Amino acid sequence: MRLRHIKGAEEAIASNRFVIQNPQEMKGHWSDCFPDNAPLHIEIGMGKGRFIMDMAEAHPDINYIGIEMYSSVLLRATQKMEERELSNLRFILIDATYIQDVFAEGEVDQIYLNFSDPWPKDRHAKRRLPSRQFLGRFKGVLVDGGHIEFKTDNRGLFDFAMEEIEAGGFRLLEYTYDLHANEAMMAGNIMTEYEEKFSSIGNPICKYIIEKQ
Ligand code: SAM
Repeated sequence: MRLRHIKGAEEAIASNRFVIQNPQEMKGHWSDCFPDNAPLHIEIGMGKGRFIMDMAEAHPDINYIGIEMYSSVLLRATQKMEERELSNLRFILIDATYIQDVFAEGEVDQIYLNFSDPWPKDRHAKRRLPSRQFLGRFKGVLVDGGHIEFKTDNRGLFDFAMEEIEAGGFRLLEYTYDLHANEAMMAGNIMTEYEEKFSSIGNPICKYIIEKQ
């Protein structure tokens, strides 16, 4: 994501009512942040948040946390929340490397990774969110049998991700190299900002669903 620093973003995030401050203090009791006790789904690297806001609106019976590491990007999502006021969605500003400091084992029911940064250099492979290193961290917060859903138009990143599944402690349930042509996997699909942009120029979208072993 093109990142332009927005003056005052840190201060605005630090006092925003939709952002959970000190998220490590919520570890093990995230349900206290929401009016209803419901399954918890999280998106990691949510960008400006369109996907998770549309998901929260479509599924009021699920609680959502959107995770983003840059305050300038998160600020855009909080501005959109002012217009929508979704009580089943909150945001946190963290690097997902530290996800296990924030969620207890088994606290998260489902994880979404959408159009994760590709980090094309081999020496940066560990920074890719679908890498075995990150999958190991995600496994540490998911319930037994919990799922990760990953979408990207980057075929190189997707091929890498497919090879990381087993080493990361997951098993492959479903996949496609052309989501928008796959009627079964498209059912209920909610587009992300990047998905809209890249599918509109003809890029096929790859998707997998994997399950914690
Ligand atoms: N998911 C959105 C979409 O599909 O439109 C945005 C995709 S954008 C390419 C990737 C986002 O992931 C960026 O906003 C970036 O800051 C965020 N990100 C990358 N690595 C992250 C990490 N380790 N922890 C949290 N967010 C991360």
